[in-house]
Amino acid sequence: MTTAVLTNQTFGGLDWIPQFVQTIDQALCIGCGRCFKSCGRSVLTLRGLDDEGNLIDDDEDDEYERKVMTISGQQNCIGCQACSRACPKNCLSHLALSL
Ligand code: SF4
Ligand code: SF4
Repeated sequence: MTTAVLTNQTFGGLDWIPQFVQTIDQALCIGCGRCFKSCGRSVLTLRGLDDEGNLIDDDEDDEYERKVMTISGQQNCIGCQACSRACPKNCLSHLALSL
């Protein structure tokens, strides 16, 4: 049995399957922000990690060990994959939406 996936169309009427952002490998992420700059949909947020690898709140900004990208607005993603094309570390994974 095959599972149907959400399919859309390009401007020219060609089939296009959106690949929505699913995960960011924070062990690989260097916090460069390229994915954030490439995304026009307010999906991603750069956040600090403490020395134990826990995400910290913005108001504790001065206590971070390093910064990593996080998915904060997955509901806004249109599945364009621009973020992954911009990432130098191949951190982001994507998934088509099953119907
Ligand atoms: S797939 Fe597109 S819309 Fe979704 S997070 Fe990446 S750049 Fe933003
Ligand atoms: S582009 Fe890649 S390495 Fe840079 S912040 Fe985004 S996920 Fe991290």
